Amino acid sequence: MLRFIFTLDYEILGNGTGSMEELVFAPAEKMNDIFYRHNVRYVNFVETAEMSKVSQFNTDSGIHAVEEQLFQMHRDGFELAPHIHTQWCKAQYLNDRWQLNRSEFNIGKLPTETVREYLRDSVDYLRKVTREPDFLPLSFRAGTWAMQPCSHVIPVLHEFGIRIDSSVFKGGRQREIELDYRKAPAAPFMWKFTEDLLRPEHNGIMIEMPIYTEKKAIWKLLKAKRITTFKKMNEAKKEGDEKIKQGKIQGYLDKMRLFYPTKLDFCKMDLEEMQEMTGRLIKLDNKTPNTIKPIVLIGHSKNLFDHETLEKYIKYLLHEKQIICTFREIYKEIENKN
Ligand SMILES: [Zn+2]
Repeated sequence: MLRFIFTLDYEILGNGTGSMEELVFAPAEKMNDIFYRHNVRYVNFVETAEMSKVSQFNTDSGIHAVEEQLFQMHRDGFELAPHIHTQWCKAQYLNDRWQLNRSEFNIGKLPTETVREYLRDSVDYLRKVTREPDFLPLSFRAGTWAMQPCSHVIPVLHEFGIRIDSSVFKGGRQREIELDYRKAPAAPFMWKFTEDLLRPEHNGIMIEMPIYTEKKAIWKLLKAKRITTFKKMNEAKKEGDEKIKQGKIQGYLDKMRLFYPTKLDFCKMDLEEMQEMTGRLIKLDNKTPNTIKPIVLIGHSKNLFDHETLEKYIKYLLHEKQIICTFREIYKEIENKN
């Protein structure tokens, strides 16, 4: 039983530049059309920290369309969930640009009270856009995927209704933000945990559903589509600052491995690559068809240029009789099974 969970990180660029209309609203609107047409739904990881700051400082009129889009998505059964880049939580807008707090990249490095404050702000923002005063999210993804150490973060997530985390990508390593997922459990597609999101516990209070990755030889990553997406991103990022350049050097170090974990990314992969990966999963699933296996896909609104490939891939999944669902739907299914 494979369950394909599409997740979209819904946000502008990491350095605070880019427009809400171009990088968030428009690409998501086209993606929504595809999902409506095929009557399936996805999980929208809303970067609530940047959205609420943009709304508070009134720096981009596109935010109104974004908030209306979020309301409609929630109304129509798409899942909204917090995705917090903590460097935005105390951001200030000075001299026509965002001053982000670069020391707060990894939510795991923050004290418990700060985590609670940021989570509360995030849930409040989702309550505002859904127009539901008691809205509680079910799933969570940390900004830049970084949430280590996390024993103090998990009870706070739990307090706000969150039961599923999807921050881990197996084999992941990003030195500059101290992210290290190389010790993630190798086999299972999901696991319960309480203290450490990399340590499965039978009676854990949360479930980790990692972003699906496969190890790929580094030279195979140089696919035409990935390069085009990277170029387009860089055009949009022309205001890159020194910190980002430093980050890139660290990033090259992280990638200086012969095999690198490749996320199942519907913005960066071409159709053939996604179908090959899926074909292998279907074969594997046939050995234990009664076990529920979440396959979490990732995309970013700011990288979503090729909607045609996305639609072809969805058609392929449906043709193969695969199920596309949200975390809320798979959670219900798991609860019912137990
Ligand atoms: Zn993000």
